[in-house]
Parts: sequence; structure tokens; C-alpha cells
Amino acid sequence: MIDHGELTAKKDELIATAKRCFDLRLQTNAGGNLSVRLDSAAAIIIKPSGIGFNECDRDNLQVAYLDGTIEPSDHKPSKDLGFHLDLYRIRQDINAVVHCHSPWATGYASAGLEIPCLTVQTVEKIGRMPLIPLSRHGGPQTEVEISPVFRDSGIVAAVLANHGTIGVGPTLMKAQYLVEIIEETAQIAYVRDTLMAAHAKGSADLPSYGTAADAEAHAG
Ligand SMILES: [Zn+2]
Repeated sequence: MIDHGELTAKKDELIATAKRCFDLRLQTNAGGNLSVRLDSAAAIIIKPSGIGFNECDRDNLQVAYLDGTIEPSDHKPSKDLGFHLDLYRIRQDINAVVHCHSPWATGYASAGLEIPCLTVQTVEKIGRMPLIPLSRHGGPQTEVEISPVFRDSGIVAAVLANHGTIGVGPTLMKAQYLVEIIEETAQIAYVRDTLMAAHAKGSADLPSYGTAADAEAHAG
């Protein structure tokens, strides 16, 4: 039985997260999607199809059960519902999923390039951002392509070729931070690689870097 207090609180949290993505221009128009797991039932709250991140409200958000049943709604379910549900099924540590079509990261993914984890923060918070190719027939990625990558419990972020980004986490805020870090890292990587090319620097000129724990281990 869904607890209505929990439902309202999590809808409000999702609306605030969606607004923050829109304000940061991580997601314009009606693309992308985000969802959050409920504790009181085997279900999630998710943005429906055709509603922008900036237009989410308590009345248009949908409730979908992990078995695929959707609560009656005036809106069409999102094309992304399948992969969101599957991520919650395969990983108990995932309580929130944020998926955006943010431009810098999607540019890398569309060039067939993985975004390098080049800042100390990316190494620490993400570690690896696998690039997930388009579906076998050239369409958008579904759970068929996405779930196998996230079966590795060390993966918290991924980039979808010609499509966008995914961040997952124990809370909406943590998943949101990851999509922000992915986009920020793509922008930094682009600036670094452009400057290196302009100054004829090769990868041998790059410093090696790691986490604070790595640095302490080497100092010790
Ligand atoms: Zn998408």
C-alpha cells in the first residue's frame, strides 16, 4: 500500500530535482527522465512522456510498479520507463535515476568517445563512465543495453551514444550530482583536449592523478 505522505514528499523532491536540471540547462524541452523509488510499495515515481523537467508537478508525475503495472494516468508512460524499472530491479542500492540529454556529455558520446575521468573529483565520485552504444537496430538504448553495464555495482554513471547521460544513487540529490559532474567533466575534457592540441602537447605531458587516499598512500 503506497503511503500518501511518502508519495507527496518524494514527488516534491523529484519536482525540485527536475527544476534544478532545467535551471542548469542539463535538460531542456520534454526529453530526459528521472525517477525515485518508494519505500512503502514496490513502485517508483517517474516523469511521463511529453512533460518537460520544468513542467513536472504533483498531478502529472506517474506511479509505476516494479512488475510494470502503471497507475491510471492522463499521460503516456515514458519510453524510458523500461530501463528505469529494470535498474531498480537489478540494484537494491539504486533509489533514484536521473537521465539527461546534456550537450557536452552527449557530444562526447556521439563522437564515440568515453568521457575521461580527469579530475580528482571524477576519479573519487565516479571512477568509470562506460559509453553504452545505441541499440542493435540504431534506436535509443533500452534495458537490453543499459542493465548489463549497471549489473556491476561499482558503476554509478554512464553515457549513452547519440543520446545522453545516466546517474544513479541512493537519493535523488546524489544521482543529480552525478549528472552534473558528468557534464562538467565533459566540458573540462573538451577544454583540456583543445588546449593540448593547440599547444602540441601529448598525453606524456599529463600529470598522473588519483584520489586523496591514493595520494596519502604514496606519501606514506
Ligand atoms: Zn533520453
